[in-house]
Amino acid sequence: MKQRKVPLRMCVGCQEMKPKKELIRIVRTPESEVILDSSGKKSGRGVYICPQKECLQKAIKSNRLEKNLQHPISEEVMNRLKIGLGYDTNEK
Ligand SMILES: [Zn+2]
Repeated sequence: MKQRKVPLRMCVGCQEMKPKKELIRIVRTPESEVILDSSGKKSGRGVYICPQKECLQKAIKSNRLEKNLQHPISEEVMNRLKIGLGYDTNEK
């Protein structure tokens, strides 16, 4: 029996390899916008992250998100990502 390969991607937060389906894609579009890509099909430079606040915080703190996207993450973008992931933006 042939085993089907599950595509794995690394989370920018915890840096664990996880099935692509369990991760959320964050993409920097050709228009230099940083957005959540729920379809996973937007063009641009993308990174993957677990849908967990800890991972988003880790990714920001370590600057891995900025580095991987090669784009600065402004407060506004950060808030949009948090809202998109369903987090309270007032929470620090
Ligand atoms: Zn993670």
